[in-house]
Order: sequence, then C-alpha cells, then structure tokens
Amino acid sequence: MLGQMMTRPLAIGDLIDHAADWHGRTGIVSVETTGGLSRTTWAEVRQNARRLGAALAALGIEDDARCATIAWNNRRHLEIYYGTSGAGFVLHTINPRLFPDQIAHVAADADDRVLFFDRTFLPLVAGLRGRLPSVRYFVLMGPAEDEAAGMLPGLLFYDDLIAAAAPLPAWPAINELRASSMCYTSGTTGMPKGVVYSHRSTVLHAFGANLGDTLGLRAADVVLPVVPMFHVNAWGVPYAAAMVGAALVLPGPGLDGASLVRLIDDHRVTCALGVPTIWKGLLDAAKVAGSTLDSLKRTIIGGSACPPSMIATFRDSFGVEVIHAWGMTEMSPLGTANHPLAKHRDLPAEAQARLRETQGRPPFGVTLRIVDHEGRPLPHDGTAQGELQVRGHWVMDGYLGRPGSGLADGWFATGDICTIDPDGYVSVKDRAKDLIKSGGEWISSVELENIALAHPDLADAAVVGVPHPKWDERPLLVAVKAPGRDPAPEALLAFFRGKVAPWQVPDAVVFADALPRNATGKVLKRTLRDTYRDALTT
Ligand code: ADP
Repeated sequence: MLGQMMTRPLAIGDLIDHAADWHGRTGIVSVETTGGLSRTTWAEVRQNARRLGAALAALGIEDDARCATIAWNNRRHLEIYYGTSGAGFVLHTINPRLFPDQIAHVAADADDRVLFFDRTFLPLVAGLRGRLPSVRYFVLMGPAEDEAAGMLPGLLFYDDLIAAAAPLPAWPAINELRASSMCYTSGTTGMPKGVVYSHRSTVLHAFGANLGDTLGLRAADVVLPVVPMFHVNAWGVPYAAAMVGAALVLPGPGLDGASLVRLIDDHRVTCALGVPTIWKGLLDAAKVAGSTLDSLKRTIIGGSACPPSMIATFRDSFGVEVIHAWGMTEMSPLGTANHPLAKHRDLPAEAQARLRETQGRPPFGVTLRIVDHEGRPLPHDGTAQGELQVRGHWVMDGYLGRPGSGLADGWFATGDICTIDPDGYVSVKDRAKDLIKSGGEWISSVELENIALAHPDLADAAVVGVPHPKWDERPLLVAVKAPGRDPAPEALLAFFRGKVAPWQVPDAVVFADALPRNATGKVLKRTLRDTYRDALTT
C-alpha cells in the first residue's frame, strides 16, 4: 500500500515564500557595489524576485533558459537567485576571477541567454561581449546610467526592469527534478566543468545544511556569507537562511579584514562563513581594530583545510567556535562538518581541540567511504587512507553534457585522500594529485602546511613535492614571510621536528612574495611544482 501523505514538490520558490510569509520583516543588509549600505527584507526580496520572474518571462526567453550572473554578494543578486529559479529559469553564477577565456567557455557551454552583472564588471563584460554569442540580454544590476548604456548598446538596467513589471501572483508549479541552478568547478585542471543542481537537491541540501550538526542556522541568527554567491551558491546559505528566516549581511565587494570586522560589529553578526584565507585577514584586522567580535558565535570554515592555529585563535582570543567543514562544487557543496559527540564532552581540552581539527562527520543525506587504488573499500579505522567517494541527495550524477562522468561504481570519486574514523570523522590528507611520494611513502602536504602556518614569522605557506634524485619526490616548503619578519630557513625546518616523523620534514625552504591562487582562492600547487621543479636537483 502507498502512504497517504501529500506529495509536494521541493521547489526553491517555496523557500522564499516561507521566508517572506513568516519572517517578512527580517532584515537583509547589503553592501552596494557602488559603496554604501542598503537594507531590505525577505518580503521585499520576494516581491522583487516575483517582479523579475515576470520581467524575464516578458522578454520571451524560453523555459529553462540559463540566466548568468557575474556579481558580488548583494541584495539584487539574492533577488536574482529566487527570481530566476522560482520562475523556472536556471541560475548560472559565474566566478569573475575566471580568465576571460574561461568565462566565454562557461557561458557558451551553459548556453546562457541572459547575463546580469554588477557595475564592477562592466569593463569585463563590455570586453567579452563579442565572445558571448548565446547571450541575448545584458542586464546591469543597478539603476539606469548613460555611461554604461554607451559602452554596451542594448543594455538593460535591473532597477528599470523590475520597476516596470507587475509581480507574478505566485510561482509557477515546477517539477522538482528540473534544473534550478548551475556552477562550474574552479578549473585547476583543464576547463571548468558544469554541475547542474535541481530544485529537489537544493531544498534537500538546505535541510541538510540546517541540521544542528552542520551549519545549523536559526531564525535568531544574523548570517554573514563571506563565501561568494558565485562559489557553489555561497555554500547554499541563500537557501538555508530563507528556510529558517535568518537575517543576512551581504558584504558586497569589500572582503578585506577591516571591512568584515566592521560589518560583524555594526550588524551583530552571529555566524559567518568563508575560506581560511579570508579569516586570516579578519583576525589580523580585528586585533588592529581592538575588536573582540563579541556578537560572533561561530564561523564555518571550509574550501581548503583550516589550519588548527586558526581554530585556536578564534576560540582562545575571540570565543568563537570554528566549524570546520568540507565540501565540493559537485556536492552542492556540503559533505562533512565538525561537531563533537556527547562522549567527547569530558575529554581533556587538548584532546577536544584535536578532535575539532578534522573535516568532521557527514550529515544524513551524504554517504561516504574510502577506497584503495583498485576501488576496494577500506576500513573506517582512522588510519587507512584512500580516495573518498560519496553518494547522496545533493551529490552530482555527472557533469553537464557528460552523463555519468566523475562517477565510479555509482559513487562520485572526490579525488581527496582521506581517513575516516569509526565515528565518521573524515580527515582530508590531500588532493590525490598533491600527495608527496617520497621513496614509496606518502606525505600529506596539508599536515605540513598546518604546522608551517602556525609559525609566527610566516604569513602564508604551501608544501609541494618536487623531484629528488634519490627519493623521487621530497617536500619543499614555499613560505611567505609575515610583515617585518625574516626567519632563517633552518629555523623554519626545525619547527617541524617533533611534530611529524623526521623523514616527513621538508628538505628545503624557498621564500615567495605571495602564493599563486585559483579563482576560488585555492593555492595552485601545480604552478608551484612547475616553478620549483629544480629546487632540489640543482
Ligand atoms: P569549493 O568550490 O567548495 O571550494 P571545489 O569543488 O572548488 O569546492 O573544491 C573542492 C575541494 O576543495 C575538495 O575536493 C577538497 O580538496 C578541497 N576542500 C574543501 N574543503 C576542504 C577542507 N575543509 N579541508 C581540506 N580540503 C578541502
């Protein structure tokens, strides 16, 4: 017999309806691209999103038409999130830090029909226009202005577009399996590949993100997504926040530490999310400004490994809990998040601290395992290392245009080398391609970087494997000095002794002014390996 319960599609429009109906006055603060703050509410976001949905339909674009954005985290971007998906179009957030060639590639691959962009990106878009043949409408996210209109003939202006449209009375009914949005992988290897999310996967991901042991957002939270809305949908925050009616602070283009400290203090932010690089700037700026970040209760840090020293600084100097999380574009992105279990409560502080350093446990909705080179499952004993594979309600089933690609035996193969302990805590050792192979033994570059980043004389550090005549590869520390510091290489290497096995200590140190990073802020290890290829052989 069948259950006799209502079957309602899991649709993105319902998220904004819930927020507008029950948290309609909850505030959303937005830093405008042209400077200054604006304030809106969930009710106004829905109203404008409904106007936008009607305006897009009136332009005559087809059902499922891809609507791209090149934009910061701001209120218009939030309205576009809901106005496109809610009305049955597909949001495609483009990372502005991609190379122009890559932007032209992703826009063509996605077959983008409309391109919304912030004022900052006018020169970029004007320069690319001839290489975006699929795009029929260019929309500047702001009020009308002559200068921009002169640079892009036929340009539409967002504020005019929605002012002229009567809001849709309701969102159209949508099959939950239809595409709602898409994102491209950051393209560290080859051209970026498209990942297409559905209404269903997005709503289920929002439920998963709001579990107490993941992001656990609540109506009383004031949430600051520093992670960009073009980076896996800001880790799903625009959806998860609407689902619970949390307030949002959208930081716009100013992601420097001082601006973030001001936003946190001025708007009493309780929960912030971003990659480790962002928080380094924030911690430095908070110390300079003398801020104690007293409203901030927790930060969710992921995207690359969060150094244990950063978790300790947040905890000891600011009383902020760091939730270390791991995910991927292909997973919407939430895979694991680090929260303690009841049995950990009475552990000594040191043991508790160590436990919080890993990438954490999977929520319901994500299943994971590790496998060896031949795809055979390995034990979850906290020691065996293998490639992490995942399955779940919000995990990709193949890249755009390549059904089944990226999958092995029905699992998505992440390319991350991990251990999993019996409680499900995942510890990411490395990307498979970044592991260092020394004389047949594997060395985790992440572990060495975590140590280096705790050294007070270093501002940044990466460890890569470079060719070695005897051991195939040996670890090389690429270090960026902290301002005003001048550490000796021997002193830096001595810092590793006693923290890892002697044969894992890097062979040498090279200093760099900065580390090369990709469009999502991850260190480009391949570039470092190329640059320092001969460091240990000459
Ligand atoms: P995102 O866009 O969310 O950063 P990407 O798909 O670009 O995701 O990159 C995902 C990869 O980033 C993961 O496979 C992993 O190698 C790395 N990563 C993400 N979070 C962490 C973390 N907390 N610790 C270590 N590596 C991480």
